[in-house]
Amino acid sequence: MTDLTLTQIRKAFGALEVIKGIDLDVRSGEFVVFVGPSGCGKSTLLRMIAGLEEVTSGTITIGGDDVTYAEPSKRGIAMVFQSYALYPHMTVAENIGFGLSLARRPKAEIEAKVHTAAETLQLTHLLDRKPKALSGGQRQRVAIGRAIVRDPKVFLFDEPLSNLDASLRAQMRLEIAELHARLKATMIYVTHDQTEAMTMADKIVVLNGGGIEQVGSPMELYRNPATPFVAGFIGSPK
Ligand code: ADP
Ligand code: MG
Repeated sequence: MTDLTLTQIRKAFGALEVIKGIDLDVRSGEFVVFVGPSGCGKSTLLRMIAGLEEVTSGTITIGGDDVTYAEPSKRGIAMVFQSYALYPHMTVAENIGFGLSLARRPKAEIEAKVHTAAETLQLTHLLDRKPKALSGGQRQRVAIGRAIVRDPKVFLFDEPLSNLDASLRAQMRLEIAELHARLKATMIYVTHDQTEAMTMADKIVVLNGGGIEQVGSPMELYRNPATPFVAGFIGSPK
């Protein structure tokens, strides 16, 4: 089942066209990685899917609904950013539940969802702490917890691990992969790190200069890179 489609998506900032007609189908439950060099338009594309940036033209559907001009909160998506801006004066529990409080969900529902998310992310023993008492990895887990409690159809991650050191990054990669296996949600994960792309993706979308160079499984891209750019980025067999 197709969960998300992009049809001829374009984005210009003034005279500068940064996304140049992108078509993409993402299946329900798929883990899709957008990979490409800095400035190629990864964040812009993700922000348009989230509704944080309006498309210049084209159509976005999520779960069969045309959401091209829908409010971010009406799209059934949740986004996790690189700079996981937690509220410093709130506890972990309050941070995770904040979106639900804003939406005026009942207290009992918020508590139940926060506890389930905390268990999933091994944060239960930290629910009363403030963000400054947490490690980088724990803070990133709180940011993911904020996304989980909203039960999104689609998770969007924009380079969520790039502020973490190498060993923590490897650990968080595994945790996100486990989360994907457990929730069976559709995930779109942006990175400029080809190791992350190759190890995490069901499907890799290689972006370059605002367009798609190639779409395929890690093995397809490795075995049959369609362009010299893809070969150089992924690394082809010698
Ligand atoms: P990536 O995430 O792949 O590094 P971005 O999507 O952030 O790339 O940026 C793609 C291009 O669009 C860059 O040239 C960037 O300078 C430009 N850009 C992004 N946001 C804006 C904006 N709000 N106004 C003008 N140009 C922008
Ligand atoms: Mg970016």
